[in-house]
Amino acid sequence: MQRKSEARILQFLREHGESSIAELSRLTDLGKATASRAIQSLHARGLIEYTGHEHRTRSSGRPGRALRLRPDTGLYLGIEVGFGDITLVLADAAKQIIACSRHQFSSAPTRLPTFSYVTSVADQLLDQVGGDPARVRGVGIAVAAPVDPKTGKIKRISQDLDWAVAEPMRAFSTHFRAPVLINNDVNCSALAELFSGRLTTDQTGVLLRMGRGVGGAIIHRGELLHGYSARAGDYGHIPYDPRGPECRCGGKGCYERYLSISAIEKDLGDTIDRLRERADSGDQKVQEDIRKRGHVLGSLAAVVSRTVDPDVLIVGGEVVRLGESFICAANERLQVLNRQAAPIQHASSRAILQHGLFEDEPALGAIWALIRNEQMLEKARMK
Ligand SMILES: [Zn+2]
Repeated sequence: MQRKSEARILQFLREHGESSIAELSRLTDLGKATASRAIQSLHARGLIEYTGHEHRTRSSGRPGRALRLRPDTGLYLGIEVGFGDITLVLADAAKQIIACSRHQFSSAPTRLPTFSYVTSVADQLLDQVGGDPARVRGVGIAVAAPVDPKTGKIKRISQDLDWAVAEPMRAFSTHFRAPVLINNDVNCSALAELFSGRLTTDQTGVLLRMGRGVGGAIIHRGELLHGYSARAGDYGHIPYDPRGPECRCGGKGCYERYLSISAIEKDLGDTIDRLRERADSGDQKVQEDIRKRGHVLGSLAAVVSRTVDPDVLIVGGEVVRLGESFICAANERLQVLNRQAAPIQHASSRAILQHGLFEDEPALGAIWALIRNEQMLEKARMK
């Protein structure tokens, strides 16, 4: 019984980062006496610590001494494997980001890195922070391709990938001597929203992510919807205009062909950040171009709201750097097409990034996926 209570408290702190005795006893339904006993025991064993300041509770109630996991009890490694670059985030057990790095390994944005490249940059990061590999509790990997959620196998066999065909989870797990979870990058970004609190576990949410490609993820009541071929939410290759320009998928006029970074930069002839600067300094032509792209996003959002009708619709990815006018135009179009739809919101990656280093929701989301998996395994053990 005591062990179960302790596991509940550890899991709660792993997910929420910080709490107080009163809040823990309320939100874990353990009751004050049981929670206090469990906390005392965890504290005596050096697994949790008092931070020295007061914890503000999430609901009403008096603040109490703040508790958190001892940061040195374990490390989580999140890796975003993209086409051309790779991003790593190292977080401690208290969900604090302690290090991150980004590497560009290819100027051709069509290649994923090899297995040995991924493991070598990960080992490098651990080495730099003096992180003992034995303390790694788990490794979450986010990949820019459809992934079989059970095996971690990448469903894009045309890619010349040395870890696409074998058993990638087992291979990485053997290397890191820790559990490994591989997920699609957009799914990971959506999970990051869930853990940041923007999306709650009683809601349905859709995340549209516009970067080099356009992807989407659907979360219903805290669970990712994968679908038959792990492509649920893959909205990028729905045609916006079937007579439009050719798309890399072989189709024509797909949403991705209007909303990805490469499409926007190619069509409008400047970088995303320069376009934003020009719009801000009053260039009416660019302002109009950005509004038109916003209307395309609004049309895609209407497709999403007609099919899924989510409580929360979030957009993220580098294209969001086009600014407020882009999102406003999208919301205007969405309201015209579907007056009952939930308005589009910005991704909240900044809010969960305590150190505010860069937009790395997929790598963070991969860590949250691990933590969530630990929780499910713990629940299964208790049954
Ligand atoms: Zn396409």
